[in-house]
Amino acid sequence: MSGVALERPSEGLFSFVGGLKGKFWAHIERPDAYIRALRVATPLASQEWFWNDRRLLHRLDSLERFALWKGEEWRADKDVEETRRAFLKGLRETVGPRLKEMPDDGERRRVNQWLARLEARLGVVDPYCRPSRARLELTDACNLRCRMCPQSFWEWDRNYAEEWILERARSLYPWLLQLDYTSFGETLLAPLFKQALLEAPTHAHTVLISNGLLINDDWAQFLVENHLSELHVSIDAASRGAYQAMRGVDAFERVVENAKRLVGVKKRLGKSSPTLVFNFTLTRKNIDDLVPLIRLAAEIGFQRVHMNYLMVWIAENSEDSVFWIRDRACEAVDEADRVARELGVEYFHPPKLLREHEGVERFETFCPEAWEIIYLRSMGKVSVCCMSADEFVPPPEMSWEEVWDSPAYQAFRRRVNLPGDQAPPLCRNCFYGRDVQPGDPRFHFFSEALVEHLKDTPKHPYLTEPREAFSPAGL
Ligand code: SF4
Repeated sequence: MSGVALERPSEGLFSFVGGLKGKFWAHIERPDAYIRALRVATPLASQEWFWNDRRLLHRLDSLERFALWKGEEWRADKDVEETRRAFLKGLRETVGPRLKEMPDDGERRRVNQWLARLEARLGVVDPYCRPSRARLELTDACNLRCRMCPQSFWEWDRNYAEEWILERARSLYPWLLQLDYTSFGETLLAPLFKQALLEAPTHAHTVLISNGLLINDDWAQFLVENHLSELHVSIDAASRGAYQAMRGVDAFERVVENAKRLVGVKKRLGKSSPTLVFNFTLTRKNIDDLVPLIRLAAEIGFQRVHMNYLMVWIAENSEDSVFWIRDRACEAVDEADRVARELGVEYFHPPKLLREHEGVERFETFCPEAWEIIYLRSMGKVSVCCMSADEFVPPPEMSWEEVWDSPAYQAFRRRVNLPGDQAPPLCRNCFYGRDVQPGDPRFHFFSEALVEHLKDTPKHPYLTEPREAFSPAGL
């Protein structure tokens, strides 16, 4: 980036520039105009005053919009891509080295998040950015064995996080915008969960997914009183029969009672958080329960329903997928949308399973997870994303930051967004990285990718070759 120092513009000039914004966005609609604008912006963005101004955050938002303008649409244009990459690299070199020195914690977190997007876009393997989101798994033990979950078809010695894992997490907190206690197990079973929530960073959005079975009066009070932004109860049904078919136990009424308990405690304490969410995995077995669940949420006072399609991890579950009944599933999604609007329930769901998306990757995209998130597991492993697309086994004394900067993490960043079979197995049909749509079978069926993924043993962060993989005793 240019080292030329420009004089700091006057306040009047800033307003004048503000007034030109509309014209500017209209002007850069064409690739050649956009390239010219990038070239003009490059020396401006490297100026010291630009990064030490009270409007920095606002300016970063505009700059990000500008830097990724028509991001995917114009990727095929070599001139645009080369000029854009030069611009992004310049920004990175200006911002990255200053990141850790930024005195304001909130500003540093926001700039870090911004830098992560930029470095992910550039595919930098040794980024300046630190994780802005984390998953902290405090146990991988569960009190259920739901048919669609590995809890029902894998065996392993279940783990409960020890103090050193919480300690590893604590030093992450200053960076985090989101902390998710969701895990491979039922977090309320974890002895350290209460302590972890009591010391949750108040600047971070905190999330917990629970199966809701254990939420008695004490738990409800604790979860509502402390810093929990969202509480998801995985219910998957609106009736006793569908609940049992999905979750393997006869406990529908109990979970609904516990959900009502949460609503009651929130009202009694006059709290607006946590946002209460029902999670629903859509399968052939419960498709008729989706709309009734939205009605149930409205009736008892849950604010949101999150629907996801079943991810098939073993061939035996293939028949349960709604991929085989795409038209019917589309109708259910639409009807749920209509009812949710009518009743004022927020309803989040992936795109519909449109047949025309089969075999199509809508446009080239990229996965930013290896630059944004870190997943600390209860047995001590560190994973790169919520799918655990790669896993490392650091010794207990190794910090998350050493792992983040390690050769193994860098090797994953190098591979994650490569095309076809060059990408890690679980990334090949993951919609984050490929934008494969639900109308395509790759969105639903992961059993082959899983078999290949499991061949690669978790590795020490400083050993990147699978043949060098090892697993220290006790982890
Ligand atoms: S592409 Fe998917 S599986 Fe791979 S790192 Fe990203 S989120 Fe994880």
